[in-house]
Amino acid sequence: MDKKLLEVIICPRCHGKLDLTKDRSSLICRFDRLKYNIDDGLPVLLIEQAETLTQAQVDEAL
Ligand SMILES: [Zn+2]
Repeated sequence: MDKKLLEVIICPRCHGKLDLTKDRSSLICRFDRLKYNIDDGLPVLLIEQAETLTQAQVDEAL
């Protein structure tokens, strides 16, 4: 995923910064503990399609 794109995209719920997961397959909002998938290089920034994670899952993924 493009690093510049990562700098400008924000969480649609809290408008905070998103972090790319270690495996680069998704973006995570640490504040909401929401995971947004990256589909063909494009992040799916829809709250209704985001997955809610536990704190342990967030720590593991980042
Ligand atoms: Zn958020």
